[in-house]
Amino acid sequence: MKQKLNKAFIPEKMKAVLIEEHGGPEVLNIKEVPVPRVGQGEVLIKVKATALNHLDIFVREGLKGPGVPKITLPHISGVDIVGQVVQYGHTEHKEEQNKRPAIGKRVLLNSAFGCGTCRYCRQGEPSMCHDYKIIGEHLWGGFAEYVVAPAKNIIEIPNHIPSVQAASIPAVYTTAWRAVVTVGHIKPSDRVLIVGASGGLGSAQLQIAVRAGAEVIAIAGSEEKRKKAQELGAVAVFDSHGNWREEVMEWTQNEGVQLAFDAVGKPTFRDSLNCLDMGGKLILSGATAGDFPEISIREIYQHHRQVLGAPMGNWEDFLQVTNLIWRGEIKPIVYKKYSFEDIAEAQNALEKRQHFGKIVIEIDPDLC
Ligand SMILES: [Zn+2]
Repeated sequence: MKQKLNKAFIPEKMKAVLIEEHGGPEVLNIKEVPVPRVGQGEVLIKVKATALNHLDIFVREGLKGPGVPKITLPHISGVDIVGQVVQYGHTEHKEEQNKRPAIGKRVLLNSAFGCGTCRYCRQGEPSMCHDYKIIGEHLWGGFAEYVVAPAKNIIEIPNHIPSVQAASIPAVYTTAWRAVVTVGHIKPSDRVLIVGASGGLGSAQLQIAVRAGAEVIAIAGSEEKRKKAQELGAVAVFDSHGNWREEVMEWTQNEGVQLAFDAVGKPTFRDSLNCLDMGGKLILSGATAGDFPEISIREIYQHHRQVLGAPMGNWEDFLQVTNLIWRGEIKPIVYKKYSFEDIAEAQNALEKRQHFGKIVIEIDPDLC
C-alpha cells in the first residue's frame, strides 16, 4: 500500500531510536519524542530509509578523541536519509522556493553543511568550515519517523532508483568520490590499493576506481568478500588477515601502488603507506578500527610520499557521484535491509564486519 500524506496532518509525536546514554546496542531504544518543527529555510522529511555508518556506532559509544565532537544526549543518529517532503519552513527567497522539490516528492539528503559565510563555505567546502555540522552526528538524524534539515540540502531521487540504494549514497559514495577523484586525481594508468574493500566506503572506492579505469587491488577478510571484490572489477585480491603488504609488493614487482585508500586506521596504516610507490599518495577517510598508528617519518618523506585527508565531500563531489548512480554507471551495493525494530542487530552486523557494502534500515516500509 502506498501511503498518501495529508499535507495538513503532521503528528505531535514520532517514533525514534533515542540514545539517552552512551553504551552498547542495548542503549538503542525506540521511544516516542515530539516531531521536530521546521524553522526558516528548513524542510521536514518523513523518513523512508536510513543507511548505517561506523559514525553511528561511535556516536552511540560516545567515542572521544581528536576531531570527534561531543554528542549532546538524548540523541538520534542516522546520517544517510531518504524520505518524503512533508513541509517547508518559511523562506523569503521566492526563487529558492520555486526550485524546491514539491511536497510529497522522494528526496535524498546531503546531511552535511557549514555556516555558509566563512571563507571555506564560500569556496564550496563546508567540510572545512569551523562550524561544520552533520545531521545524525551534531543534530538529530534519520533513525526516526521524521527529520528536519536545511531545505537546500535535498535533491529529488529519480523514480528508477530504489530508496535503499539512494540511502547508501551520501556518506560513503560522496566521501569515496572525494578521496578517489577530487583528492586522489586518479588516472587510468594508476595502480590502486583499497584496504577494507568490503566496507561501505571501501566498496564505493573500489567501484569508482574501477570505473575510472585504474588497476585495483582489494584487501578483504574472507573468500566470499574477495570474490565479490573481483566481481566488482578488482584485478588482484589479498586476505586482510595475511601478509598482504608483501603480496601487494610482489604482485606489483616491488614497485607498489600510486594510490592507497585506507579508512581502517591504526592496524593497517603503516602497511598501506609501505605499499606506495615513489611519490604515491595514501588517502585517509576514517579510522574505524582505531586511531594513532605507528608512523615512521622517513618512510614518508624519503619516498616522496603524501598522506592526505578526505572526509565527507562537498556538493560537487555529491552531485558528480549521484549523477553516475542515477545513470546506472555505478550501482550502490546494499548488503542487507533491516527493519526499524532490528537496528541493534544491524549495528552488530556492522561492528562484526559481516557485511559487503551498505546496511540500510527501512524506517517506513509503506512510504513511497
Ligand atoms: Zn563556514
